[in-house]
Amino acid sequence: MARVVQKFGGSSVADADSVKRVARRVVATQRAGNEVVVVISAMGDTTDELLELAKQVSPDPPARELDMLLTAGERMSAALLAMAIFDAGASARSYTGSQAGVITTAAHGDARIIDITPGRIVQGLEAGDIVIVAGFQGVAQDTKDVTTLGRGASDTTAVALAAALGADRCEIYTDVDGVFTADPRIVPAARRIPAISYEEMLELAANGAKVLHLRCVEYARRELVPVHVLSSFSDRPGTLVASFEEGTNMEAALISGVAHDLTEAKITVVGVPDEIGKAARVFSAIADVGVNIDMIVQNASVTDKTTAISFTLPDAERPIAIEALRAVQAEIGFRDIVYDDGIGKVSVVGVGMRSHPGVTARFFTALAEAGVNIAMISTSEIRISVVVDEAAVPAAVRAAHKAFGLDTASGEAVVYAGTGR
Ligand code: ASP
Ligand code: MG
Repeated sequence: MARVVQKFGGSSVADADSVKRVARRVVATQRAGNEVVVVISAMGDTTDELLELAKQVSPDPPARELDMLLTAGERMSAALLAMAIFDAGASARSYTGSQAGVITTAAHGDARIIDITPGRIVQGLEAGDIVIVAGFQGVAQDTKDVTTLGRGASDTTAVALAAALGADRCEIYTDVDGVFTADPRIVPAARRIPAISYEEMLELAANGAKVLHLRCVEYARRELVPVHVLSSFSDRPGTLVASFEEGTNMEAALISGVAHDLTEAKITVVGVPDEIGKAARVFSAIADVGVNIDMIVQNASVTDKTTAISFTLPDAERPIAIEALRAVQAEIGFRDIVYDDGIGKVSVVGVGMRSHPGVTARFFTALAEAGVNIAMISTSEIRISVVVDEAAVPAAVRAAHKAFGLDTASGEAVVYAGTGR
């Protein structure tokens, strides 16, 4: 008998009928001779709606209470799914994250899993039940308060449980047929990636691909949990995220995929004195307020012994970063701060670039031919990213996708619900 963890995202349980459809799938998995643990997200837009409701009640709700509120979304879908499973002729028990033994840090809204004590889950399985766990939540080890793990983190719950339970399979059901070479809504010729390594998936997730939560991929890589990304709307083969010995993933192309991200902004600190320690002061000020920056470019000015330092960061964190910089402007002695929130990042990712020269040239030539201007560049061993004008992102993604031979004529990509959940 195999032990399977199946996670269903919000768009797979958007209404009563879809809850019943998920119930049938889960029961079929059990009848095929498996032990089944289901991790469930809140129905449809529930989490957004709860957040909106909280905002109407209070402009700045206490984080602890916000977590009490948001965890209710997953608790609802877990109980409803259990009911539907009984109706489909099997028996189930639903648990909150806390009951299921998901132990976390106390960082409300962004808690990390530090331990899983899955005793009750195992008991349920041994009794022959399907066990349902509310995703995206846990209980803080020290305060014993209910926590959430960050938006989209039901994926992470699933992988963490799969690791703790020694599951044979971890399946993430969503509303697309797997991981694609680009967002099918921008590139209709995108193709499904049959198999991809953890490190490539990490780069794609970190650079805007929304199909898997970033921390879920980090967790899967650390614990070596193979993850299958599948559609709950079809029976297609999906994508396997796993570790591959270099060169053994026969499906691998030079570039695995093209990711894009529209959530960043660019800040430029102008007229920074060209002296030792100034850049350190700029970035210390930003680090002190907990803002995570992404790309950095420094232009040395030839004339007036000052430089301009540009960096990108999540647009949502721009106000905090600017405030922190203003506070040290006089001390550091820079002239001004300007920002641009109309930018986008386009990244090509592939382990193949380790061994193949010319990837950068091909990427940049494609951008030039598409008339796209590059504002910033950054690279890792397996990724090249550029910042471009927000309006140029679709053209840039399509150009890169085509240049690396990723276009498929068959128009294979199907987006069933279109939210990536
Ligand atoms: N319901 C939560 C969210 O929308 C968690 C999840 O769906 O993974 O972020
Ligand atoms: Mg998701």
